[in-house]
Amino acid sequence: MDSRNLIRHKTQVVCIGAGPAGLTASYKLCQNQIPVVILETNPIYVGGISRTVNYKGYLFDIGGHRFFSKSQAVEDFWTEILGDEMLTRPRKSRIFYKNKFFDYPLKAMQALLNLGILESILCVASYIESKLFPPKEIRSFEDWVCKNFGKRLYSIFFKTYTEKVWGMSCDEISADWASQRIKGLSLSKAIINSLISPNANQDRAKVTKSLINSFRYPRKGPGQMWEVTAERIKEMGGKLFMGTHVC
Ligand SMILES: Cc1cc2nc3c(=O)[nH]c(=O)nc-3n(C[C@H](O)[C@H](O)[C@H](O)COP(=O)(O)OP(=O)(O)OC[C@H]3O[C@@H](n4cnc5c(N)ncnc54)[C@H](O)[C@@H]3O)c2cc1C
Repeated sequence: MDSRNLIRHKTQVVCIGAGPAGLTASYKLCQNQIPVVILETNPIYVGGISRTVNYKGYLFDIGGHRFFSKSQAVEDFWTEILGDEMLTRPRKSRIFYKNKFFDYPLKAMQALLNLGILESILCVASYIESKLFPPKEIRSFEDWVCKNFGKRLYSIFFKTYTEKVWGMSCDEISADWASQRIKGLSLSKAIINSLISPNANQDRAKVTKSLINSFRYPRKGPGQMWEVTAERIKEMGGKLFMGTHVC
């Protein structure tokens, strides 16, 4: 027996949590014949904060999840699990602010027109100020957005939206996370592009994560992905204990 097989036979993995991370890791381990035991606090649902809950026969997502990855391996994994149950849907996200809809990600010209002349001038002035005097330390989501969009746009759009969706203060979310989620979205480029070519945002959408205009979505919500993954793990011999909290 070679050493890899020996490791395979001797290794057992206990995975804490049946969220996307735990289930994906467990699925891959099972495929490699490594025995896995998953311990999940929730007595009913797998999927962690990507779960879909059933209330009186209606399915509710804890958060609306877009399935989009730059990694082909990740996209292939989702297809492997759900096949045709993965639908492609157009994206439309808007923020309702002061009785007006603002496309999200922001379209600079639309945002400035909706805000009115005075507010727009204040936003642009605040943006210029952030470029001239950037914060010394970029630690939090708040620092990162203020540096890239100016304090005023941050307080109008990013702060309330982000805190509502994630249930955390922007001061507690790391700058790394902001740079991953809204990478490539630059206010100055957006303004220039809107002036030069109204379709420029769409072209950039091909390369900018936050601007994608379609995404994949399981037919019965994100939880379906993790429920099927859990079933496959069990079929491959993995063990899943629900309602089991690890202290
Ligand atoms: C509103 C919202 C929108 C989102 N939109 C997107 C999106 O569009 N696209 C995207 O890719 N991501 C999105 N996300 C992020 C995505 O939900 C998370 O990145 C993902 O769920 C993280 O998976 P995880 O397994 O690391 O953690 P979790 O989903 O948090 O799962 C952890 C699991 O471990 C269990 N657990 C924790 N502690 C213990 C313990 N001590 N013992 C036993 N079990 C334990 C929990 O009960 C849970 O089931 C969104 C999140 C939210 C809230």
